Amino acid sequence: MGRESIKAPAVFLDRDGTIIFDRNYLSSPKRVKLYSFSAQSINRLRTAGFKIIIVTNQSGISKGMFTEEDLIKVNEKLLSLLKAEGAKIDFIYYCPHSDFDNCCCRKPRPGMALRGVKDFDIDLKKSYAVGDSVRDYLFGFNMGGKGILVLTGHGRKQQSTITYEKIKPFAVCKTLKQASDFIIKDIVKTTVFIKSVF
Ligand SMILES: [Zn+2]
Repeated sequence: MGRESIKAPAVFLDRDGTIIFDRNYLSSPKRVKLYSFSAQSINRLRTAGFKIIIVTNQSGISKGMFTEEDLIKVNEKLLSLLKAEGAKIDFIYYCPHSDFDNCCCRKPRPGMALRGVKDFDIDLKKSYAVGDSVRDYLFGFNMGGKGILVLTGHGRKQQSTITYEKIKPFAVCKTLKQASDFIIKDIVKTTVFIKSVF
């Protein structure tokens, strides 16, 4: 019996407005506040077999509004708050650039997902991206997976701009809680479909 390496699916989660309250250019750990449903939603996804990776655009660094050290402190605070509620994150990738830097890691470009593939052997086709911005669901599409828009943070405003986008979100969910429920149902459906093909 050969041992095949089974690639893990991942859920790529946006940070601000998705897991924590959006503060414009958050630079202080003191201002990190989790949504009430975040830890539980992350745990449910993890139990369902997903790697949990945070991917966050942080153009405030490129614009000189805060430093990478500030960002790392904010991320550490986030991880400790989640840990206190029993939830674990596999990794946090961030893009420090702005649109003017023309990098390959700023969402909606898929650079941070491709890093995840290298570091964690992720199956992007079975993966999801969740966030409160058009950039976030487009990131999910661009990585070859599925993108979900949540209506927390900037989500409601962003939703009104979808009309003008060629690519629509795979789903729109009220919060990360509904998104995690949706993903767990969707992955079961997808698996059943694959089985029925053989
Ligand atoms: Zn970048």
